[in-house]
Amino acid sequence: MKRLAAMIATTAALAASAQEAPFAIAIHGGSGTITRASLTTEREAAYRAVLAESLEAGRRILEGGGSAVDAVVAAVKVMEDSPLFNAGRGAVFTSEGANELDASIMDGRGRRAGAVAGVTTVRNPVEAARAVMDKSRHVLLAGRGAEAFAKEQGLALVEPKYFWTRERWDQLQRAKERDRQPLDHDAPRAAPAKSSSLAEDTKLGTVGAVALDKAGHLAAATSTGGITNKRFGRVGDSPLVGAGTWADDASVAVSATGTGEMFIRAAAAHEIAALVKHKGLAPRAAADEALAQVKALGGRGGVIVMDAKGEAVFAFTTEGMYRGLAKGPARPEIAIFRD
Ligand code: ASP
Repeated sequence: MKRLAAMIATTAALAASAQEAPFAIAIHGGSGTITRASLTTEREAAYRAVLAESLEAGRRILEGGGSAVDAVVAAVKVMEDSPLFNAGRGAVFTSEGANELDASIMDGRGRRAGAVAGVTTVRNPVEAARAVMDKSRHVLLAGRGAEAFAKEQGLALVEPKYFWTRERWDQLQRAKERDRQPLDHDAPRAAPAKSSSLAEDTKLGTVGAVALDKAGHLAAATSTGGITNKRFGRVGDSPLVGAGTWADDASVAVSATGTGEMFIRAAAAHEIAALVKHKGLAPRAAADEALAQVKALGGRGGVIVMDAKGEAVFAFTTEGMYRGLAKGPARPEIAIFRD
């Protein structure tokens, strides 16, 4: 009798501790000139709905004891499949009028990583990045080689026209007229800007996720169509481990969105992790410091950071960033604007 009671007590304690193990997922859908005035109520609701769906896809996996890697892939896939975000289906156009997609993923357990760059027929680039991580000896595959690999792995391939959307096409025409390379969520500008600076009037619709699973592992993933009117062959920060994506159980998981060139030059995602790990900075201070470096280089954007306790930081130097957080059993939160 006593033994039975003890067994029941142990089982209950185990169940409680498994339940109490923290888990969380944070997502972003890009940053840029996102103000209340620039979004209609319907459009805001549409963005919120996809962000909620993405969070839920990741949260469900974590709640059921699934891995952070599975959770970030599921969350990113939802946004890749939506035409609202500059990743997968809604990818922006290159100057040549094509869609070249980049994605990466990193597993905080053992710092495994995978990425693809410049793919044009892979429906969900984040899945290709994951396949590179899990099924190849490499970290980054580009172009034709990445596509052949995705095919070999049985991933869904599409005709390039799958990525054609009227909105992105019009965005390209406007950018061409003004000789600019805007970030995805930037509002169209009234005055033409000749300098073609990557930093001005840009919107960054890149998507990303960071997660902590019940086993205590972190993961991060990022996926993008890049920057409107980018040169063909241009690769940004999103598929570069250390620039747009980073995850290390010993520090934090990071996914970035912004003017990729400057995020590469700041090694932004790794910089945040290094500031946490080596300088003992809080994730918030580390994120602000990395974004200040990006700004000093002439860039802008945002990051999401998650630490080993499931605490999330959202930081951005733009007017807004599509973002969301689901932490344990708490009600998921979604935000878009600065305030
Ligand atoms: N960081 C992405 C790139 O430079 C763009 C974005 O975040 O929207 O390709």
